[in-house]
Amino acid sequence: PLIASRRPIRELPDELVSQIAAGEVVERPASVVRELVDNALDAGATQVTVRLSAGGVRAIVIEDDGCGIPAEEIPLALKRHATSKIGSLAELEGVMTMGFRGEALAAIASVSDLAITSRTPEAPHAQRLEARSGELAPAARATGTSIEVRELFFSTPARRKFLKSDATELAHALEALKRHALARPDVSFALWHDGKLIAQWRKATHEQRMADVLGPEFVEKSRAVDVPVGPMRVQGRIGLPEAARNRADQQYAYVNGRYVRDKLITHALRSAYEDVLHGQRQPSYVLFIDIDPTRVDVNVHPTKIEVRFRESGEVYQAVRRAVDAALSTTAGAPLTAASA
Ligand code: ADP
Ligand code: MG
Repeated sequence: PLIASRRPIRELPDELVSQIAAGEVVERPASVVRELVDNALDAGATQVTVRLSAGGVRAIVIEDDGCGIPAEEIPLALKRHATSKIGSLAELEGVMTMGFRGEALAAIASVSDLAITSRTPEAPHAQRLEARSGELAPAARATGTSIEVRELFFSTPARRKFLKSDATELAHALEALKRHALARPDVSFALWHDGKLIAQWRKATHEQRMADVLGPEFVEKSRAVDVPVGPMRVQGRIGLPEAARNRADQQYAYVNGRYVRDKLITHALRSAYEDVLHGQRQPSYVLFIDIDPTRVDVNVHPTKIEVRFRESGEVYQAVRRAVDAALSTTAGAPLTAASA
């Protein structure tokens, strides 16, 4: 349709730019949990605690024991495109951290009431910054960072209307945390909701963490794989046909430690299971693909849930072979390159 009266081109105000960016990254409380836990892990945390009130809509508080942010940099953490993780295109191409876009905190702060309290090991005390007022004040805290996110979407009622019940939002947040927990058994996680402990996973071996998060049946009815393929390594646990489920709720694939929902990987898995699963039965798996970071582009989606492989055919074959091998061996021993 024709635009009747054209308005002049204008640059959007910063706040609105952030709110538009937030639309891509922050869909619901679980997205905030995902982004803030990414940050905690990038900061080297060994313990991450998530506290939600009212499904996370009233408050999301994430505490870590990571490296903290120096007082003078705290205001910068909230600025759009401000990051400590990359400084050049070369670094972007080899990026191994979860974050690098410098967008999450700015986006979340534009659609909530956000505060950061942080302390580095050298600092005499912590500092707390309230995003809305810009007020920076001394605070008490051990080394690490706490981010408080209150009243999510209070300024964007259209978005707020899409939120579901507290129980549903909590379930999504729990799922987001499970994705991190499966990848990082070396980190302890806890999730609280309205003062009740919902989940707690202590530091463990990979196998123990899978049992803690997915239940012991998953480990019993799955087989370990660990297959180096050229510049790649495919490892994890592949559920046996008898572990198949009615819902696709135990399918976890990671690229360089980042949870992905990638068409290529899903397709490779589906084709590997084709002959052993019937009807709508859904396989269970936790699969880690480790690959030279320059051979995968993680900067194709704002939430980084999709990736692009340079040699996609090789990745497809590697995943297929790993799963085929796991499903075809009868011995319970872990698969190695030799047995694959
Ligand atoms: P990104 O993770 O892409 O760099 P964010 O907006 O998520 O962007 O965070 C901005 C910056 O704030 C990070 O680069 C990091 O330096 C700092 N930061 C955020 N959260 C934490 C945390 N939990 N611990 C230490 N530093 C943090
Ligand atoms: Mg981040």
